[in-house]
Order: sequence, then C-alpha cells, then structure tokens
Amino acid sequence: MKLISVVIPAYYEEEVIEHCYESLTRVMRHTNYAYELIFVNDGSRDRTLEKLTLIASSDYNVKIIDFARNFGHQAAVTAGIAKANGDAVVIIDADLQDPPEVIESMIAKWEEGYDIVYGKRRKREGETWFKLVTAKYFYRFLNYMSDVDIPKDTGDFRLIDSKVAHIFNRMSEKNRFIRGMISWIGFKQTYVEYDRNERFAGETKYPLRKMLRFATDGIVSFSSKPLKYIMRIGFVTVILALGLLIYSVCAKLIGSPTEPGWTSIMVAITLFSGVQMLSLGIIGEYIARIYDESKSRPLYIVQNEVNFEHIQTSNRS
Ligand code: UDP
Ligand code: MG
Repeated sequence: MKLISVVIPAYYEEEVIEHCYESLTRVMRHTNYAYELIFVNDGSRDRTLEKLTLIASSDYNVKIIDFARNFGHQAAVTAGIAKANGDAVVIIDADLQDPPEVIESMIAKWEEGYDIVYGKRRKREGETWFKLVTAKYFYRFLNYMSDVDIPKDTGDFRLIDSKVAHIFNRMSEKNRFIRGMISWIGFKQTYVEYDRNERFAGETKYPLRKMLRFATDGIVSFSSKPLKYIMRIGFVTVILALGLLIYSVCAKLIGSPTEPGWTSIMVAITLFSGVQMLSLGIIGEYIARIYDESKSRPLYIVQNEVNFEHIQTSNRS
C-alpha cells in the first residue's frame, strides 16, 4: 500500500486542531492509501500540543514534531517534509481554510503522473479586503520580479511526490519561501482548483509584519531584479544631478541674479538621500541573507518527537 504523508504546521491552533484531525482522518480513510498525519507544533504555548499528544496516544497515524520555540510557518513545513516517509507529501494548514477533501483530487492527479499538484484558489472567503488586495498584487508583483515562474493564487497547500521532497530536503537555504523553492525544482506540475474557506476558528497567525517578511523573502530569494532597479534609479538620478549642476554653473557664469535657491537645494537633497536610503535598504536585505546563510545554523530546533517509530502500512490506526 502506498503511503501518503500529510504535513500540518500548527501555531496556537487549540480551537481547530481536533476538528482538523477529524476531517483529515475522515478524508484519508476514504482513500486507498496508508497515511500519516505529521503535526508540527511551531512553539505554541496554548493547549495545541496537549490536545495533539492525547490524539497521538490513541492513533499511531498521528505524529508530532514539537519545536523548541516559534520558528515560523515555513520552517515548520520544512521539518514536516524532512520527517515524512510517504510516497507523496501533502502540505495543508491546520485552520481548514484549505478543504481536506481536495486532497483526494490531488492524489488522483498524482496517480496520473504529476509530481507536483498545487491547490489554486478560485475564491477566498472570509478574508479582509486588505488581505485579498495585498495578496493579489503581491503574487502579480512577485511573478514580475522573480526569475522562476511561481504560480499565481496558490499557497503552500499542495501535494509533492517523494522525489521532489528528497530534493527539497537537500535545499539548505535559511530564508525559505517554499512555494517558490518547489516551483524552482521543476518536474511535471499541475493544479486543482478550490474555494478557500473562512478559518474554522481562531484568527490569522500572519499579521502584517509577518506578511511583509514573507513577501520580502519571496522577492529577494528569487530575484536579483531589485539590485538592477537600484542601478537604474541611480543612473537616472545621476543624470538629473548633472543637469542641475550644469544649470547652476551656467546661471552663475552668465551672471543671472542668484536666487535664494533654497527650494532646489532642498529638493535635490531630499530626493537623492531618499534614493540612497532605499538603495542601501535593498542592498542590506541581500547582505542580511548572505549573513544568515553563512551562519549555517539549523533552520529549527526540535525538542520532542512522537510516534515516529511507527511506520504506517494500512489505512487504519
Ligand atoms: N503557522 C505556523 N507558524 C507561524 C504562523 C503560522 O506554523 O508562525 C501555521 C498556522 O498554524 C496555520 C498555517 O501556518 O496552520 C497558516 O497560518 P494562518 O492560517 O494564520 O495564515 P493565513 O491563512 O491567514 O495566511
Ligand atoms: Mg489560514
């Protein structure tokens, strides 16, 4: 019997975790595959872990990786994939925004011979217009900026074949943007469409701060275009500055009455220092990444693992 691993990152999800377990179990039992549900507790200090441990004590299909602290969604998914034994690995959020039933159609596509099946969101329910608009333009912008083709309107909800998972496990970069990394790997890809639901309970663990961090990772990790644009902006401002210089020298030479000139100086100073700050910031992002990579610290620290000694061979617990 083929084995499907499902990786579920969970951060303060005590309100949904049981329901998540039940729905996933229902869906996976309905299939003809052995399965394992790998929950990664990303340093939640609520009752998420307690509830998971209880579930795992009576169901060996449930495995737990417990992080020493919050390392972030992308690190949690990475840890889950690293421990997955399946012939295919499914990544899904704990909050049931991605309907577990879609996994069945993903598996069907995989059986047709696709190595990566990603979930493409048809519509998203129960999200603020701010999230919808920022997400939409982020994906458009990302695609424009980035050097690999990252599918629009997809999250990390996807199925990957074990050979893709093995390659993914060898990618050691620290600033992880998983959907980009998987696109970068290549292989035969397709998608299934679905409607994204409202969160079952609890609230988003992606505040604006984390969203911005994530967006920066996506762009800077997959493109050097920002550096090229800095060059261009720099080039244009230098020409502007030269023009200004020639103009002021000529004005002085032909002896036209010197104006107070305060405005033009202020404009020049603010404009150019603005451009410089921006450029330094972008360059800084790249340098920070070089620094992160050179430290070669582990991506996450696991403090406990549960049920990994049990290898699933059937569809029952
Ligand atoms: N998550 C995590 N670590 C974090 C933030 C989020 O493991 O630091 C998990 C969270 O429990 C959920 C998934 O990542 O299973 C997606 O998070 P969320 O639903 O809050 O994001 P949104 O759907 O609002 O983008
Ligand atoms: Mg969510």
